[in-house]
Amino acid sequence: MAEQKATNITWHEGDVTREERQANLGQKGVTVWMTGLSASGKSTIAVALEKVLLARGKHAYRLDGDNIRFGLNKNLGFSAEDRAENIRRIGEVAKLFGDAGMITITSFISPYRRDRDLVRKLHEDARLPFLEVYVDCAIEEAEKRDPKGLYKKARAGELKGFTGVDDPYEAPERPELVLRSDRLTVAESVAELLATLESRGLLGA
Ligand code: ADP
Repeated sequence: MAEQKATNITWHEGDVTREERQANLGQKGVTVWMTGLSASGKSTIAVALEKVLLARGKHAYRLDGDNIRFGLNKNLGFSAEDRAENIRRIGEVAKLFGDAGMITITSFISPYRRDRDLVRKLHEDARLPFLEVYVDCAIEEAEKRDPKGLYKKARAGELKGFTGVDDPYEAPERPELVLRSDRLTVAESVAELLATLESRGLLGA
């Protein structure tokens, strides 16, 4: 966990409650946290889900692994320590978005259970729903897809610390949803995600 550096700081309450913000927006904030191997389909499914949600008049926003590394997390690499900080920051951003009433869809490999559990705890402490979605794809299939050529580079030894090749992926133990993305179509995965959100009352007003 990151150390609290600043002292002399006090939480300043606003005059608008989360419930009032939700009523204004007509929806509840939730984080849909997708985790899985590179090329398992996290970004592809997130893009498709965002589109369907917007077509339904919902406010949704994607936080995507590579995209965030171009900006907020441009100073972080892929060491275990940097991966942990990457996930911690995204967790905090997702929590803020959730408090603001957004359906936030994250697509990060987030390979370490401990880091994901910390994000879950952040949400629990903030009384915000957190859905851990394991995008489960056999590595052979992910490697066959390899849309960015990263497995090829990792196998050739040109890329070190690549998840699934020479860095571990720790699968979730109790995810809210498992998507077998090597068996389901993208549309089927999106349908499962919508059903999960619906069954938890997260798509209503
Ligand atoms: P990740 O975000 O997990 O790294 P991407 O979404 O970037 O994965 O890449 C997954 C690749 O696999 C894309 O090129 C996508 O079109 C392809 N793909 C093929 N079949 C599927 C499927 N059923 N679900 C998700 N992605 C699929």
